[in-house]
Order: sequence, then C-alpha cells, then structure tokens
Amino acid sequence: MQLDLLADICPVESAATAEVPRPARPVLEPGGSARDPAELLQSRLRGLGLPPFARFETHRNAQVMLSWTPGKRIRIHEGYVGAPDPVLDAIVRFVKATRQSARAAVRRVFLAFPAELHAPSPSRPCSPAAVSAADRPILEQLRQLHELFNQQHFDGVLGQIPIRLSGRMRTRLGEVRLDRASGRPTQIGISRRHLRRDGWEAVRDTLLHEMIHQWQAETGRPVDHGRGFRDHARRLGIEPRAVLQSVRLEIRRTGRPPGTM
Ligand SMILES: [Zn+2]
Repeated sequence: MQLDLLADICPVESAATAEVPRPARPVLEPGGSARDPAELLQSRLRGLGLPPFARFETHRNAQVMLSWTPGKRIRIHEGYVGAPDPVLDAIVRFVKATRQSARAAVRRVFLAFPAELHAPSPSRPCSPAAVSAADRPILEQLRQLHELFNQQHFDGVLGQIPIRLSGRMRTRLGEVRLDRASGRPTQIGISRRHLRRDGWEAVRDTLLHEMIHQWQAETGRPVDHGRGFRDHARRLGIEPRAVLQSVRLEIRRTGRPPGTM
C-alpha cells in the first residue's frame, strides 16, 4: 500500500516570499554539533514509536508531504525536522493507524505544520505579488518582529509565514489565513488603518495575537479565543481582545476545500 498526502500552499503579497530559498543547513543540536536533518528526523520519529522501515528518505517536494510502503520505505518532507514533538507524534500515529477515522484526526495536525518553510523547495511555483516600495520597510519590520517573538515566546517553532498589510480591514485589526484543505496558516494580515491610527506599540500586540492563532493551527489545536488562547495571551502580556473581533472574521480559510485536488 502506498498513500500520498497532497498539500499545497501559495504564499501571496509578501516581502519574505521574494527571498531566495535558503540552502540546506545541518541542524545544530543543543551540544552545538551539526547533524544531518534526515538522520535527526528519523531518530526523533523512531523515538516517538515509528515502526521500522528498510529505507528512510527525505525530500523537499511540497506537494507530497508523506508517503510510505509498510516495512519497506518511507518518504517524508525534510522540513518536519523543525517540527515540535506533537506534530511528529501525529505522523507516527498516522502511519500506525488502522482506521480511516483515526487517520483523519492526526492528519490535520501534521499537515498544518509548514514543513516547506523549514526546508524550502529549490524552486517555488508561486511568484509573489508586487510589494510597494513604501510598504517594504514596514513589512521588513513586521518580519523581524515575527522572528523575535517566535524565539522569545514560541521557542522558535513557528513557520516563517508571509505577512502583509491590508487596506480592506475596517473593524478587524489583523487576521490569519488558513489553507482550507490542510488547516495550515499561510499568511498573517495586519490592518493598515490600525497601524496608522494606533501605531507600532498596538500593532506589536496584534501581531502577537495572530501568532498565537498561528501556533494553535500549526500545533493542531482549535483556532479560537477559548481558554487556552486567553491564558497564552495573558502570559505574553497582551489583551486577548476577543471582544473586539470575532474569530469567524479574523480566521480566513482559503484555497480549495478538502477532497478536491
Ligand atoms: Zn484572534
């Protein structure tokens, strides 16, 4: 039996997507020694209970995240080496599951993780939309803030997701776009009006707010303003702001619905 999982994303309107994909880098372990990503990924998956395969291979093809033939061969996207344990655990459960219903639940968890951002494919199929010269420094500042907050508050596990400015948000301050098929975050949007009116101090909080949603989606949690969200927001010292905007408007699901390829 061989089963392929299809997932695709198409980042839009971002300074980050215009960058040349980074070459493969060995992963630094806590001791400081470099280790081959495939070897490290295999060892982490085996540690979480992955059954043995004669061949373990990694790839960077963002269309097929995982495929395997029981006992013989498993092929998996290399970017999963950057995933936290709960995501790898979902992969192990997926491979071991015998029922379709059990698979569906864990499939969502690992497809939500943006593996291709941890190991980009050599050529991206999507070309980014043009970003105006005036927006570049703002987007670059947002990108740097995202990177900083990722390290400070999320142990660096979040994917480097594109950020854009939107002139269309009237009441919303920010939003997260999720790929409809995989549930994976594809973009964070910040309201232009919000930046003009409230300034950087407030926009920082909005970015953190959206990053908690990104974290929820990438770790397979429900994306909402529930208790987990509120606790997380308080720990980070930001107002949960759930009353000002509804999740229904803030979380946009884009792309093709599941089951259509
Ligand atoms: Zn929210």
